[in-house]
Amino acid sequence: MSASEAHEPTTGSKRPVTMEKIVNLCKRRGFVFPSSDIYGGLGSTFDYGPLGVELKRNVKEAWWRDMVQRRSDVMGIDAAILMHPRTWEASGHLQNFTDPLVDCKKCKQRFRADHVAGDRCPACGGELTEARRFNLMFKTFMGPLEDSANTIYLRPETAQGIFVNFANIVDTQRVKLPFGVAQIGKSFRNEITPGNFIFRTREFEQMEMEFFVKPNEQDEARWFDYWVEFRHHWFLKYGIKADHLRLRPHGQEELSHYSRGTTDLEFQYPFGWGELEGVAKRGSYDLDQHAQFSGKELTYFDEEARERYRPWVIEPALGVDRAMLAFLLDAYDEDVVENEERIVLRLDPRLAPIKVAVFPLLRKGGQPEKAQAVREELQRHVTVAYDQAGSIGRRYRRQDEVGTPLGVTVDHQTMEDDTVTLRDRDSTQQERIPIARLAAEVSERIGGHR
Ligand code: ATP
Repeated sequence: MSASEAHEPTTGSKRPVTMEKIVNLCKRRGFVFPSSDIYGGLGSTFDYGPLGVELKRNVKEAWWRDMVQRRSDVMGIDAAILMHPRTWEASGHLQNFTDPLVDCKKCKQRFRADHVAGDRCPACGGELTEARRFNLMFKTFMGPLEDSANTIYLRPETAQGIFVNFANIVDTQRVKLPFGVAQIGKSFRNEITPGNFIFRTREFEQMEMEFFVKPNEQDEARWFDYWVEFRHHWFLKYGIKADHLRLRPHGQEELSHYSRGTTDLEFQYPFGWGELEGVAKRGSYDLDQHAQFSGKELTYFDEEARERYRPWVIEPALGVDRAMLAFLLDAYDEDVVENEERIVLRLDPRLAPIKVAVFPLLRKGGQPEKAQAVREELQRHVTVAYDQAGSIGRRYRRQDEVGTPLGVTVDHQTMEDDTVTLRDRDSTQQERIPIARLAAEVSERIGGHR
């Protein structure tokens, strides 16, 4: 964990977006709802609605495609959330996965000591208690007996599911160093101060990859630099703005218990710079610990050098929800089209929940039926919305607001010559094209994504 969540003032940023605008848009349009909403919500827990779940899947798919499927040196796994409790003894999480907690003696608010500057309460200026260590793992019981022998934990990171499968991977996959193992899945942390919407929650999803390299500092440094650069570029590719992203190497004192060096990719949220992704040098810490606790060897046989050793690890670790928040924030824009203000999410088409919206210009003259036929055809390839309610301008704006990159309008001319207009979300330019070419054109404009 990084100790400092640098809340520096955002200087010179002219972004129209605020957290409030994003939270409202997400609720209004069905991206993200407070969890258990009818009961007043459950603190800092969220449910993803119909549009949010599509965006989230697209973020995960983009990551999986680029980190696993389009590479020959990384493979995926999907490990269980519930793991043998020895895992957490070995990994150091039982001992070390703690945050320092302070309480205000006056207003009773609770803070992470490393988030408080000075020794007074940031809310009321009152006196603070001594810092106490607080373990972030959620505990539960396996089976009917609620005793210490049956205590298990919800995993606080997906990484350990990869390390405990190291021998299974090496024994079954004919791997050669360097190679990576990636996983996407839920993690749970009983955070003291969750907040800022989906930035910090107690239940969240992670996308982590453990990249195993030869155990020497040259290989470690080379691949560490490679992954920092690769991950940096990945965010830019999907729409994060270059000046909203920076690299921050951790100081010695804030390194996690397993880390030999960490660089955070920080994003400029409306509330300040904060971690988006961490890239860590985990060395052989995890494999050494699991070897010791399990009595298994957990080594790799290097055919060329004819020797056995434990590889070192470089880990890029990203939160799905946090990535989604960053993509939403940088996509959000407000502009004026034909004297009308609009909100537009300039999401990368590959991430957009709905790829194309189909509209009949009028609700008569066979246009709705024709538009439904066009919708059906397009829906064989991509996610489609259909809308015939209200003026065409309003319908465009409804789609702009959720980031739909393309709009297809069926009008009177369509009924004569089987052409439609294709509208671009960002430029609002329209082009007339034959229905016969529509699916191919749509596919090309949204980056061939199916
Ligand atoms: P922080 O310092 O913000 O608590 P961390 O350094 O503990 O984060 P890691 O353990 O490096 O985070 O986890 C990797 C990634 O998982 C983070 O970069 C972040 O994107 C995501 N993540 C971690 N904790 C949370 C959380 N409580 N809610 C949402 N995402 C999280």
